[in-house]
Amino acid sequence: MASQRAFSPAAVRHPCLRSLPRGPVPAPALAPSRGGPPDRSPSPAPAASADAALVLVEEDQRHYREVNDRSASRAGLDSPCPADFYELLGIDLDADNDAIRSAYRSLQRIAHPDVAGDAATGLSILLNHAYKTLTNEGARAAYDAAVRAFRERVGSFTGMPVSAWLGPPGEQRALFVDETTCIGCRNCTCTAPNTFFMEDDYGRARVSHQWGDDEEVLREAMDMCPVNCIHFVRRKQLALLEFVMKGCKREDIAIVARRRSGNMGIAPASNDPFTRAEVFLRRRERAKSAEEMTGEDPGRARSEQDEELSATIASAWLAVDPELRAKGWPSWEQAAAEAKT
Ligand code: SF4
Repeated sequence: MASQRAFSPAAVRHPCLRSLPRGPVPAPALAPSRGGPPDRSPSPAPAASADAALVLVEEDQRHYREVNDRSASRAGLDSPCPADFYELLGIDLDADNDAIRSAYRSLQRIAHPDVAGDAATGLSILLNHAYKTLTNEGARAAYDAAVRAFRERVGSFTGMPVSAWLGPPGEQRALFVDETTCIGCRNCTCTAPNTFFMEDDYGRARVSHQWGDDEEVLREAMDMCPVNCIHFVRRKQLALLEFVMKGCKREDIAIVARRRSGNMGIAPASNDPFTRAEVFLRRRERAKSAEEMTGEDPGRARSEQDEELSATIASAWLAVDPELRAKGWPSWEQAAAEAKT
C-alpha cells in the first residue's frame, strides 16, 4: 500500500536483479456505446474528493508536474462532453433518418431556448446543424469521414483514466509517463512491472496500473529513468493527460536522443502533453459561438469535424442547466459526475 516514506538511495537495486515482469496488463478497452461516452469499465471510484489537498514530500517535488487548470476549476471545462454531432444527438454512426429525426426532436424539446432559456441558444443551434448535416446524404457522407478520422485521431474526452487504479482511495497522486520524451529503455518496466508496461505502437513505457507496486519501488523506477519522463501528477488531471497523450506525436527515439544531446533543437511545445492539456482547456473556454462555428445560414450543412467544433459543442452543452443535461444526455451527465468523484 502506498505510503509517504522517504526514498533511500541505498535501496536502489539493479532492475535485472528483480523478478521477471509479469507482462503488461492491458488497460480496459474502449467500446463505443450508443451515442454516449465510450463504455469503459472504470477504475474503482475514489472515495475521496478529487479536490482533496495534494500532499507532496520533498522526493515527490522533483518528479511532480501539473496542468495549469485555473480556467477548468472555474467552469468545469475538464468535464467529459459530447464531441461530435452523433454524440450530441445520442445516436450511432449508422443511425437511419428516423432515428436522427426522433433524437433531434426529443432533444430540441429539452434544449429549445423557449424552454431552457437563453443559455441553451448555442446548443439549440448546434442541434439544428447536426440535424441538417446528418439528414443530407452528401453532407453526411463527408461529415462521417471527418468524424471517423477525428475519433481515430482525438476521440471524445470521457473523463475516465485509461490506467486502472490500485492505490488507496484517498491518494491524490498518480503516475504519468510523458511518452514524447521516453526513450524506451525499459528500466521502469523492469523495476516496477506491476505498474508500467511497454506499449506496442511506439515502444514507449506507459502506466497500466496506478500504484501497482510499492511506493519505494515506484520512486526507484522514477529515479532510474534516464530522461526523467515519469511524473507524479494530480489524480484529477490524470484522465486529461492520458487523453491528450493519445494525440501527441512520438518522434523516433533516435531523434529524441539527438534532441537531448542538443543536436536537433528542442521539440515543439505543442507536442508536450502538459501544454496540450492546457490548450484543450483553453479551447473549451474560448470556444467559438455556435453561429460562428456553423455559419449564419441555418440550412448550411457542415462537413468538417475538428477540435474547434468539438470545443464549441462542449461549451454549448456545459452552458445548459445540469438538470436539463441529465434529462437529455443522461450518460454524459453521469460520466461527468463520475469524473468529479
Ligand atoms: S525508464 Fe523512462 S525512458 Fe526508460 S522506458 Fe521507462 S519511462 Fe521510458
